[in-house]
Parts: sequence; structure tokens; C-alpha cells
Amino acid sequence: MFVRNTSGIQRFVRLVAENDQRDVWKRLSDLQKKYERTCPECRSKFWINFESVSTHWLDGELIGYRCPEPGCKGIVKLQEPA
Ligand SMILES: [Zn+2]
Repeated sequence: MFVRNTSGIQRFVRLVAENDQRDVWKRLSDLQKKYERTCPECRSKFWINFESVSTHWLDGELIGYRCPEPGCKGIVKLQEPA
């Protein structure tokens, strides 16, 4: 499951990097159904979606997903420990 998720997310990141918006939105709606994360700060569960993608990029790598809860600055890391 983690392997599948990781490869799926990497594919998503690559799509975003390539700015191929049409495919991104199409595939993202599929990915969205599969990816649920729990915020490390407030423990609320949320589905990963495009708006929650953190703007923190490091060397072109996506770090994680920002918690959508108001006032919460929790970021769910892209790759969870195996
Ligand atoms: Zn949170």
C-alpha cells in the first residue's frame, strides 16, 4: 500500500512539475480518493487534494501536504516512514 501510494504521489509530483494541468486534474481526482492523511498537529483527518499541497518545495521536491484546518500549520510529510 505504501509503495503504491509513494509511486502514485511521485507520479503526481512529476505531473505538476511538468505543468501538464489537464492530466493532473484528471488523475488527481483519482488519487484524491486513495489518499487520506492524518495531521500530525491537530490529528484531524483530511484527504489530500490540490489545495492542500504545501508550497514548501526543496530542490523541486514536494515536502508534504498542509492541513486544511483553520489556524493549523501541520504538514503531513509526503513520504511516511515505512
Ligand atoms: Zn492540523
